[in-house]
Amino acid sequence: MKNHTMMQYFEWYLPENGLHWRRCAAQAEELRKAGVDMVWLPPAYKGAAGAKSVGYDVYDMYDLGEFDQKGSVRTKYGTREEYLEAVRSLQQQGIKVLTDIVLNHRMGADGAETVMAEEMLSTDRDQEIGQDRQITAWTRFDFPGRGGKYSDFQWRARHFSGTDWDEGGKRKGIFRFAGKNWERKIDHENGNYDYLMGTDLDTDQPEVIRETADWGKWYLDTVQMDGFRLDAVKHIGFDFYREWLKAMRAHAGRELFAVGEYWSKDVNRLKYYLDTLEHSLSLFDVPLHFHFLEAATSDGNYDMSRLYENTLTGLDPAHAVPFVDNHDTQPGQALYSFIPAWFKPLAYALILLRDTGIPCVFYGDYYGIPHDRTAPVPGLKRLLKVRERFAYGKEGLFFDDPSVVGFTREGDAEHPDSGAAVLLTDSVAGSKRMYMGQQHAGKHMMDIMGEIPETVTVGSDGWAEFRVGGGSVSVWLFENAAADIYIEEM
Ligand code: CA
Repeated sequence: MKNHTMMQYFEWYLPENGLHWRRCAAQAEELRKAGVDMVWLPPAYKGAAGAKSVGYDVYDMYDLGEFDQKGSVRTKYGTREEYLEAVRSLQQQGIKVLTDIVLNHRMGADGAETVMAEEMLSTDRDQEIGQDRQITAWTRFDFPGRGGKYSDFQWRARHFSGTDWDEGGKRKGIFRFAGKNWERKIDHENGNYDYLMGTDLDTDQPEVIRETADWGKWYLDTVQMDGFRLDAVKHIGFDFYREWLKAMRAHAGRELFAVGEYWSKDVNRLKYYLDTLEHSLSLFDVPLHFHFLEAATSDGNYDMSRLYENTLTGLDPAHAVPFVDNHDTQPGQALYSFIPAWFKPLAYALILLRDTGIPCVFYGDYYGIPHDRTAPVPGLKRLLKVRERFAYGKEGLFFDDPSVVGFTREGDAEHPDSGAAVLLTDSVAGSKRMYMGQQHAGKHMMDIMGEIPETVTVGSDGWAEFRVGGGSVSVWLFENAAADIYIEEM
């Protein structure tokens, strides 16, 4: 058994040249060699912004870059054929493909309808402002460019709960359609956070339930993906995805991995969502991301011993997908909270080398973000190698100091020379005694991050004293393992 590692294979500012799927196919072998065995691809269907769309402004989910809609046949990433080829190329390398599922909202309607609506207070969406009124809402989705191929389903106002624009009055607001209620089992930020943007799907409406299942089955049959990344789950009635995932798994006849994006610092909300979904998916560890941010921006005064407190990785590691950054947290984006460069190697050592969940590596950290002149995270490729080959066996935790914290992996028989010691600090240089295992007594270990030149010898009691430089991470491997890493990189 090898450690699983996910990569989010896009960042927000990829060039709009339609070459991403081809690049992905061309890189599939390199990704496997890098230790990646799961890839999350961006939304593949046509967005309202056509070939400029990152994919979250969903227009037509049956148009994977095949129809002349929104000013383009291809999407930002390429054509349908290129997409399917990218998926096949990844799978041929043994890499599982997760597709991005965006079911909360639609944008770029083909026409407007007159509907009765009540305007709600944006800070408390259960509070109505004034009287019901007639608005002109962009709710007609006919897909004339597709002409009914794959599905003749057309969206109308009855399929939606609300919108944020009255075309008649040329006015922005939160408009809930008459006769509709927001979902009750939902995130309660802003009173009720069912509504996020665009026209909001009414996921209780029987035609919507049927159509989203029909589409999902069509998508599974077409793409043959291995699992899903579910967008914006806190804005969709919590019962919806539980049933949708059941239907998809029943249709596919296999266990499809799923990870949801529940954007909240409050781990209790994540736990409640997991409970409601009967633990049928994992969630990105958003609280841990924010702990990384706090640790990286507290001038060395963050209490590192509490790094995992109230995080999903700390409370339910089997259902956590720890990550460092993503397309929303990068500079210029909606949830901007980018982890400062100095802390990135520390954060990646934590998510990649501990025995917790399936970590997700961000494309922008792996390849860099040219748009912002951000370089790839130094040492990330090396940490991925360490994860794939040496980060195995029993875990020892030493989060017992406000600054210098660390952990060990004792290694196992299945992976030659496996075992690692990791020490990091948000403050000045330091050291710590950690237990590597008595079976390793007398062995020498080296820091492959290159900060500490001296080797360390494991004592007869299985303990050793490791050092770390200021504001950095040291990753100690047995000599043979370290030599393997260096030779491979030569
Ligand atoms: Ca919603």
